[in-house]
Amino acid sequence: MLVLMKQNATQEDIFSVKQKIASLGYKAHEIPGAMRVAIGITGNEGKIDPENFSMMSGVEEAIQVTKPYKLAGRDAKPENSEIPVGDETIGGKELAIIAGPCSVENWDQLLQTARAVKEAGAKFLRGGAFKPRTSPYSFQGMKEEGLVLLREVRAETGLKIVTEVKDVLTLAAVAEVADVIQIGARNMSNFSLLEAVGDMRTPVLLKRGISATIEELLMAAEYILARGNLNVILCERGIRTFEPYTRNTLDLNAVPVIKRLSHLPIIVDPSHGIGMWEGVSSMALAGIAAGADGLIIEVHVHPENALSDGYQSLKPERFRQLMEKIRQLAPVVNRTVGTEVNA
Ligand code: PEP
Ligand code: MN
Repeated sequence: MLVLMKQNATQEDIFSVKQKIASLGYKAHEIPGAMRVAIGITGNEGKIDPENFSMMSGVEEAIQVTKPYKLAGRDAKPENSEIPVGDETIGGKELAIIAGPCSVENWDQLLQTARAVKEAGAKFLRGGAFKPRTSPYSFQGMKEEGLVLLREVRAETGLKIVTEVKDVLTLAAVAEVADVIQIGARNMSNFSLLEAVGDMRTPVLLKRGISATIEELLMAAEYILARGNLNVILCERGIRTFEPYTRNTLDLNAVPVIKRLSHLPIIVDPSHGIGMWEGVSSMALAGIAAGADGLIIEVHVHPENALSDGYQSLKPERFRQLMEKIRQLAPVVNRTVGTEVNA
């Protein structure tokens, strides 16, 4: 159930509703919105009688939520969520462009790539220090040493850092460096990890599982929201289908569907979506055209030497050309994009 408060509801009204929810033995989740506050109720097994709340001061109405996710849905918050990341925002009018190598490999690789993507207009640097790899014999990331490089490159460039957490064990170390904590596709259903990032307030980039439905992605987000971290950004990164020619099938349908179902921002990862650099720019533009709030793109100064995902990584010059096209496309979909800077 959701208790929708009136626009002019006072803090006391909100407090009384939360107290009433607690007295009934349930959990209250406050979701602030531009127009009004909604209070989600969880912990109930059967239906709750709306009469419990409808006569209370400041309450507009109490509605039953038919969808399995309560806090991620548009019922809870009709307007789009804008996630603050320092002085940047993901989910507002400006497209969030996240770019960088698949893995952090060494100082020169990271710094050169970071400078190049910044120069092209990206505001966020991606780069995994802890890498979930299909084979245990593949490069597993620089781990803690990689986090140190990310921290130093942030200080050098001012770019915000998006980096993946692989497990609860290393979460504290990753969270010290990450401006946005990435949960990879393989961990979308790692519920203890979702709960652990839910207990933090750092923004979380939650990638869709390899074979996850849209509803399963939204339920994974719900795990994070239910613990009080409302700073969740969703990511469509391709799903596994019967098509072997591409690494994954980028499900761009997910973008307008999620926009209808949820208030959370959704970005697109064309690099993992198609898995070959030749197709990345087209699918990036298609993602923006579909209504995505941003992109996460793999860029590497020397893709031929990359320790992971070189084949799907753009060289800086290609990325710069793509950014020029994004700049032309953005106004068509009523968006803006950061300007080129001299790094
Ligand atoms: C990545 O971003 O490099 C990555 C491992 O992505 P995914 O979890 O989507 O496979
Ligand atoms: Mn990768």
